[in-house]
Amino acid sequence: MIDYHVHERHSRDAASAGIPEYIAAAEARGVTEIAFTTHLITIGPDTDISIREDEIPEYIEEIRSAQESTKVRLLTGLEVDYFPGEERHLELILNGHDLDYILGSTHYINGVDIGSRTQAEGYFADRPVKRAADEYYTVWRRAIESGLFDVMAHPDYWRKYLHFYGKTAPWGDFGSKVFEALEAAADNGVGIEVNTAGERAGTGHFYPLQEFLVAAHEVGIKTVTVGSDSHTAGTLGYRLDEAARMLRDAGFTAMSTFKNRRNSHTAIEEMLKRTH
Ligand SMILES: [Zn+2]
Ligand SMILES: [Zn+2]
Repeated sequence: MIDYHVHERHSRDAASAGIPEYIAAAEARGVTEIAFTTHLITIGPDTDISIREDEIPEYIEEIRSAQESTKVRLLTGLEVDYFPGEERHLELILNGHDLDYILGSTHYINGVDIGSRTQAEGYFADRPVKRAADEYYTVWRRAIESGLFDVMAHPDYWRKYLHFYGKTAPWGDFGSKVFEALEAAADNGVGIEVNTAGERAGTGHFYPLQEFLVAAHEVGIKTVTVGSDSHTAGTLGYRLDEAARMLRDAGFTAMSTFKNRRNSHTAIEEMLKRTH
């Protein structure tokens, strides 16, 4: 299996997770590729958990030199928060480094951190679920159309804390903007990931819902990856075979792998065979 969403110590919310521990876990669990995707957050309330811009060269160097001692394929990547208006700044940073893989994220909508339980509470108290979904996918689509990202992380992350407020968001409540956003992803060659942290966060599902993957396949999205969103080596590879099966069941036949921001494909069925 491959794990395309992994935070190491340069993400300050993964401060104790070292690259050597991840490599040891990968070798023990048969994970053949790790894409390190440390947080890059350039503005907003959570810049303190981000890698600093001046640390990016040492981060890349650390991954490249770790590669010399393992057969596990290691990718240099970032999970980059998208903010409307930050496109130029992000483009300068991303073009300035030797990166294999860029995940785009929308953890904030109109200044609200929907991944913060306290902030999410106010956000959802004032909004019907469909309106929250429309607002989310409006920003998500802009992120896709920015051309900055290879793959969009946890595509229905906005659902993370809904269950605390007694709300649910079945696929029928995702609104209409999501379809426009998925079409934009297909048109722009931007991918989506299945992220198994949704289940660990208590939503009862991986991100995104199965119906979301079916819709993504129907509009012609070709690039898909899987990731554990690990912040510690203990969860590396977490239930990624199930994530791959979700993709297969939605109609996808191939998983994407990356090098230097270029996309190749591996048959999902082959990957699943190797994990058993
Ligand atoms: Zn994230
Ligand atoms: Zn992450």
